[in-house]
Amino acid sequence: MIGEFDRATTESGTRTGELSTALAGLLGRIDAACRAAGRDPAQVRLLPVTKFFPASDVAILHGLGRREFGESREQEATAKAAELADLPGVEWHMIGRLQRNKAKAVARWAHTVHSVDSARLATALDAGVRAAREADVRRGPLRVLLQVGLDRDPGRGGIAPDDLPALADHVAGLENLQLAGLMAIPPLDSDPDAEFARLAEMRTRFLAQHPTGTELSAGMSGDLEAAIRHGSTCVRVGTALMGARPITSG
Ligand SMILES: *Cc1c(COP(=O)(O)O)cnc(C)c1O
Repeated sequence: MIGEFDRATTESGTRTGELSTALAGLLGRIDAACRAAGRDPAQVRLLPVTKFFPASDVAILHGLGRREFGESREQEATAKAAELADLPGVEWHMIGRLQRNKAKAVARWAHTVHSVDSARLATALDAGVRAAREADVRRGPLRVLLQVGLDRDPGRGGIAPDDLPALADHVAGLENLQLAGLMAIPPLDSDPDAEFARLAEMRTRFLAQHPTGTELSAGMSGDLEAAIRHGSTCVRVGTALMGARPITSG
């Protein structure tokens, strides 16, 4: 007979084993991609994407030494950050599309926002961080990455490449934001190598104006090798680490 307690420990033992095996495989894959690209693996960080997975998975990954976690939905992330407030040293990254009316909530818990794609959103985040600092719920500025739209269809998020310089200057002038770099997602059914090559060119021009914005958040489960070839410093990986997400519209 297996009691509730035994079942719970057995299951969590299994999940720990699963995540630990997947993590080792993924770190090996990132390492191999770096070596193939002639890059130092220390220059590419793994950002585990834990959206749709429970806080208990984040706690397991924390036990396996991870400290940064990516989330894409404000409500889910706000709840998880609150539930795990006692885990030491956690840095939450907001990677999904963000509406301006959620900026205030995100500014309370986010270490980095990867998806800033308008001056109005940046201004709202700056105000949110100021309020959070005044309320003593956060200390430092918010790191932000500007999301560049590689898609010709502007509906899918990201600033148009032509508008990137003006947005970068705007963000650089905001007191509570730190312009840390760029982020992009290749369009569906595109050749990631070609898209990341375009992104690398935009990044070169961006760095000439903002030399401290060296972060490049690019690459996911399916295309991280291509992203690493083109200079990614942060790969955002969900499925290849956590397993398949439930099918949703979000
Ligand atoms: C979900 C998500 C990811 C992770 O995608 P996988 O293909 O599961 O690795 C990366 N970036 C963003 C912005 C996401 O929303």
